Amino acid sequence: IGLVLLAFCALMLYVSDKTYLTFRNMIALTWEREHIAQELGDLTGSLRERNRQLRDARSQLTALANVDELTGLGNRRLVNSVLEKEINRARRAGSNLSLILLDVDYFKNYNDTYGHPAGDVVLQKLGDIMQQASTRAGEVVARYGGEEFILILPGASEASAMRTASRLREMISEANILHENAGGAKRITVSQGVVTITPDGAHQTSDLIALADKALYRAKNSGRDTIAVH
Ligand code: GH3
Ligand code: MG
Ligand code: MG
Repeated sequence: IGLVLLAFCALMLYVSDKTYLTFRNMIALTWEREHIAQELGDLTGSLRERNRQLRDARSQLTALANVDELTGLGNRRLVNSVLEKEINRARRAGSNLSLILLDVDYFKNYNDTYGHPAGDVVLQKLGDIMQQASTRAGEVVARYGGEEFILILPGASEASAMRTASRLREMISEANILHENAGGAKRITVSQGVVTITPDGAHQTSDLIALADKALYRAKNSGRDTIAVH
């Protein structure tokens, strides 16, 4: 009986030891699983944050790629992408799209007389004036290159675009920026080409710019400081 009891006790000890070990492993496993879950959660959080930072950086880069450094206005790249969108939008809606192409008169003379840095300041001033002249939501002011600027006027009729161009001419005249070698004017003036279309399937960005450019050419030929409509 003693031996049997001893064997029974030994068996019980063995079983309880095994049970204890199993419980301990289970607890350890549960703890480990929670720990991994927490780490995964942290990783997901930091990945999400990283993605957000990348998205912000990308949109900042896109914005920078569309901005003219000197004036802070949109650049030619922005003009092309906005025009493409606006032509499509106007085509779908059957609405107008107007464009004003503006070129500074005798600007080479200005640089030759007052120096290139002074010319840069004039371009900045003109950029500011153009922004002030553009009052409606959706309008885009940009520096198309050199001393050429563009105002995109979605939905504007020819009469409305002409009013904006006249307002611009007045504001530039009131700014009274001295330019002794500007023909007769003795101050900075600009020539403007205005075009209004109701886009059909054939109209493309380059067509619209080319039409505005033709009008601008006529404005230059008719003595500068003028507005010509295509
Ligand atoms: P027009 O009345 O026919 O327009 O004569 P213009 O002298 O304005 O035209 P032209 O095309 O002969 O000269 C444009 C000048 O614009 C030449 C160039 O030095 C100047 N220009 C272009 N970009 C810049 C710029 O970023 N800063 C300065 N200061 N000048 C610039
Ligand atoms: Mg020019
Ligand atoms: Mg010029």
